Amino acid sequence: MGGGPDELGARLKAYEGRPAAVTGVGKDPVNAPMIRHWCEAMGDTNPAYTGPDAIAPPTMLQAWTMSGLGGHQSRTGAYDELLGLLDASGCTSVVATDCEQEYLRPLRPGDEVTFDTVIESVSGRKTTKLGTGYFVTTRTDVRVDGEPVGTHRFRILKYAPARRSTAKARRPRPVVNRDNAGFWEGVAEHRLLIQRCAHCGALRHPWLPGCNACGCPDWDTVEATGEGTVYSYVVMHHPPFPAFTESDHAADAGGPYAVGLIELAEGVRMVSNVVGVPYDKVRIGLPVRVEFQTPDEELTVPVFRVVER
Ligand code: ZN
Repeated sequence: MGGGPDELGARLKAYEGRPAAVTGVGKDPVNAPMIRHWCEAMGDTNPAYTGPDAIAPPTMLQAWTMSGLGGHQSRTGAYDELLGLLDASGCTSVVATDCEQEYLRPLRPGDEVTFDTVIESVSGRKTTKLGTGYFVTTRTDVRVDGEPVGTHRFRILKYAPARRSTAKARRPRPVVNRDNAGFWEGVAEHRLLIQRCAHCGALRHPWLPGCNACGCPDWDTVEATGEGTVYSYVVMHHPPFPAFTESDHAADAGGPYAVGLIELAEGVRMVSNVVGVPYDKVRIGLPVRVEFQTPDEELTVPVFRVVER
């Protein structure tokens, strides 16, 4: 799919409001055995779902309309046509993104459910991490004896999978939040900062809002010397992750890499890459020293290089 005018999007829009299923009939009436299985699977012990006055868990709404392996006769051609257009345009992958339900009244054993499904909306072309495609939302109106009992909206993304970039693999971004922002600000200045409790002086890493030792929320920082040892490590073989390997040993790109648990001289431990030796030469007790790498212009990360000591 190109980046030009969204002609496909306009064609897809024409499906909004068309029925996807007409006068569907639930395969089974609302019934106690299905309710019991659901509650067991969910670990839901709410007493409202058992006994002579039991109601069905509201979130079972979709279960009463599901077609099972046999399929439904109620499905119209419009929905298949829509999906066919998307397939033909290269949007061959699909992922369910979310569902929304509204409940108008409880369902009880014996209720016989009917439903109609409409193609409620089709988005314009969207690019997500998965690829470029279209969100399609269907709305199923559920009834008992013609009376509305609930609505189930279901959204999928039908997309063309993103091609794997041939550019240099980008290292994943750290998750920076208000609890650990200070750590990453330090890293940007090539300083390794350890949090220190203002009350009891205990050092901690990773960064947390409060002290594990005394619960005090106040803290300051000390700058680590950067000296440490490999306390433990694992070697990652799968999945291949070139962003973690190509910087230090080009020949190993996409191959195994060592993830170290580094014990700093100050006593706290942190997880990082061990660099400077091949992955299969990393050993517990190896002396290491922090080094700040800048894999791309937006990112600085601390890694630990094996040193002679
Ligand atoms: Zn403390």
